[in-house]
Amino acid sequence: MTVTVAPHEGQTAQTGQAAAPARKAPADREALVAQIRALGPTFAERAFTVDREAVFPFANYADLRDAGFLALCVPTEYGGLGASYADYMRVSEEIGRYCGATALTFNMHNATMLWAGEVSDLLDMTPEQRETHERRRGAMFRSVVQDGTIHSQPFSEGLNPGALAGVATKAEVTEGGYLVTGRKIFASLSGAANRYNVTCQVPGEDFLRLLSVRADGPGAEIVDDWDPLGMRGTVSRTLLLKEAFVPFDDEIMPGGMYDQAANRYPYLFMSLAPSYLGLTRGILDFTQSYLRGDLAGAAKGTARRDNPIKQYGWAEMQIKYEQSRAMLYSAVDHAELDPTEDQMVTAWAAVYTVMENANEVARTAVRVCGGQSMLKHLPLERMYRDSRLGALMLPWSAEVALERIGKARLYS
Ligand SMILES: Cc1cc2nc3c(=O)[nH]c(=O)nc-3n(C[C@H](O)[C@H](O)[C@H](O)COP(=O)(O)OP(=O)(O)OC[C@H]3O[C@@H](n4cnc5c(N)ncnc54)[C@H](O)[C@@H]3O)c2cc1C
Repeated sequence: MTVTVAPHEGQTAQTGQAAAPARKAPADREALVAQIRALGPTFAERAFTVDREAVFPFANYADLRDAGFLALCVPTEYGGLGASYADYMRVSEEIGRYCGATALTFNMHNATMLWAGEVSDLLDMTPEQRETHERRRGAMFRSVVQDGTIHSQPFSEGLNPGALAGVATKAEVTEGGYLVTGRKIFASLSGAANRYNVTCQVPGEDFLRLLSVRADGPGAEIVDDWDPLGMRGTVSRTLLLKEAFVPFDDEIMPGGMYDQAANRYPYLFMSLAPSYLGLTRGILDFTQSYLRGDLAGAAKGTARRDNPIKQYGWAEMQIKYEQSRAMLYSAVDHAELDPTEDQMVTAWAAVYTVMENANEVARTAVRVCGGQSMLKHLPLERMYRDSRLGALMLPWSAEVALERIGKARLYS
């Protein structure tokens, strides 16, 4: 395969498969999920303040860091937990069960680890690109493992729904690196991340670059207020970049590889979905306890549980969760390089289903549990608000999924 090679990455045109080091056995998926489950009740308790004050869940991240989870998707040979993309999905779901905003922001961090790790290993790179990438990602992974560096992924600019389109942020080549200038909206983890990994373009190049801007460096500024409907703990303010310097070595993937990954392994754009699957599960947890009358601070007694019309609604909710879960995990567990149109339809349909079902389940939960369930000292009303936002997430928003599925199989 032909790959684009920039001057500072070497001129070799020959391509080659991964020369990455062999992976050691990763951590056990069930054990990872069990560790998060143990942290869950604390996350759920903190979620009230995080939501009310629209503040980043710093304490949850400290717990995740202490348990080694910032390095969840860092390969074991770099000192990480070595979770695969499919493992990450299960962990993300479990976090989302207790705090949607923690899960959603955790996605941004892990997506970078996966772009540079598991996904990069699948791509065609020249030997020189592979070598350069190995050195650069080694440093990035080490800083996550050793220093607890937190990464974010502000790609959105409000211009277009495509993963490879609507990027106006420019990177000018300068001595030793790039000067990045642009404006990213909804920069989740703003003020909390150490790195803002942005898509941008060098004038004259026909591909995007994924460059890692240091949050404390000159030229990076967070602006605008943050007082949204839901997912308030993501603190997704606006990132303004004015000639922010990014050394060559702070490029997440070699030039051209982000485009290759987006085209050949678009599955990574599903990585937001498990946080909403977890949110759906959290709504089920709430409803189960509420109907059984054993939820602290909520209506007591078993009359609601024994009411057939509430059992009907409860059944509908569980069926929707099972649909979401089955579709998401099936799509991810069968993910492979260069998916067919049929595989893409399955993937888009899975994300659409997870995102829309989250809100459907929340809506039904409010009806089934009833008036006393939506008071602010209980989590349901927050979950209801959080659940509405899944459909807005680009590049695979609900509308984008509908648009693409609507065109699929009609023209090929
Ligand atoms: C809580 C939260 C956290 C977020 N965190 C991040 C983050 O960390 N990183 C990040 O990159 N983004 C993030 N986003 C942004 C998100 O992914 C979308 O980019 C954003 O919601 C789009 O808003 P908009 O008003 O620009 O687009 P909208 O206009 O709302 O777009 C909605 C839909 O309109 C259609 N549309 C919009 N523009 C066009 C067009 N030009 N042509 C055709 N159809 C179009 C598409 O179908 C699209 O799905 C976050 C959003 C939220 C709500």
